[in-house]
Amino acid sequence: MNSVLHRPYNFSAGPAAMPQEVLAQAAEEMLNWPDANGKRCGMGVMEMSHRGKEFLFIYTQAEADLRELLAVPAHFKILFMQGGGLAENAIVPLNISALKKDADGGGTADFVVTGSWSEKSFAEAGKYCHAHVAASGKADGFTSIPDAGSWQLNANASYVHICSNETINGVEYHELPDLKAMGSKAELVIDFSSHVASRGVDWSRVGLAFGGAQKNLGPAGLTLVVVREDLLGHALSICPSAFNYQTVAKNESMYNTPPTYSIYMAGLIFRWLKRQGGISAMEAANTAKAELLYRTIDDSGMYFNKVQSNCRSRMNVPFFLRNEALNDAFLSGAKDAGLLQLKGHKSVGGMRASIYNAMPLAGVQALTAYMQEFERTHG
Ligand code: PMP
Repeated sequence: MNSVLHRPYNFSAGPAAMPQEVLAQAAEEMLNWPDANGKRCGMGVMEMSHRGKEFLFIYTQAEADLRELLAVPAHFKILFMQGGGLAENAIVPLNISALKKDADGGGTADFVVTGSWSEKSFAEAGKYCHAHVAASGKADGFTSIPDAGSWQLNANASYVHICSNETINGVEYHELPDLKAMGSKAELVIDFSSHVASRGVDWSRVGLAFGGAQKNLGPAGLTLVVVREDLLGHALSICPSAFNYQTVAKNESMYNTPPTYSIYMAGLIFRWLKRQGGISAMEAANTAKAELLYRTIDDSGMYFNKVQSNCRSRMNVPFFLRNEALNDAFLSGAKDAGLLQLKGHKSVGGMRASIYNAMPLAGVQALTAYMQEFERTHG
């Protein structure tokens, strides 16, 4: 079962499973990268100058493929950065919190806190601007998204931050909020780390989106930022040059050395996504996988999920055994059945199945079959 090419299903929340054919292609190209005509260039991607024609080809193609896949409009910049989602928690306010200035010269940002990640974003932003919680789902244990009508938005906020998919709590906005319709003039910032490329994005509602690559786009080390052009050029003077979006954009993400191998791997994923039929095909597949898993949980007497059905994540499915004494047996049986990394995040407990783009329906079917069998034998 666990030979090189017969790998178990991996439900890690990230870094996460990648499509096997992508890994196989990367392995084949590792020592001597072939160009589009199949001509070997004599070096591997990790050994190329980021300014050489070979890497520029890889970079340009990756950017164009991503723009096409996510239907990113021409007036948005795509930036390939480093530092992950947590660095963006600082980089975003450093760049755009002063779009509008308060009387004291600082800027204000509103946060809708729906789980661990938006809570962290709020805490970090407070170092650089007036950060304000507009709404929070904490009181109900982060199992719902506060109704948009209850959000206390600041009239002078530069932006409203949401985490559009909370990886740990399993809470996802099925639709992005329409701030304009809510009477707000603030920009919407989304942390889409854990569901980027799993469904479409309504860019008319978004000013800036960011996400680490290590769940749905490729290996760790690459951070994607998609930002509307008119939000560039407002950075605080203390913003490090390498994190100033305007500087990064002007230099086509090559002000400093970009994470070249991660960009190459993400580029292979983008082409894999196109071969799968693009984002709408992924969205349909992801919806089907999530429905099967939630149905199995809801129909059982042994498992439960606490999140309200209108905001259950299609990517990260936390679930609990009613009898927690069976957790270890569940996990070791799962491992024996070829189902890896199902243990829940330590702050939440229980189990979590992350079912990103690279998880086939067959993997979710194997998991649900195991869950039912475990219930039959232990229930
Ligand atoms: N935001 C979300 C939604 C995440 O899931 C994560 C990582 N799990 C982060 C931010 C932090 O990302 P990083 O570890 O790349 O800084």
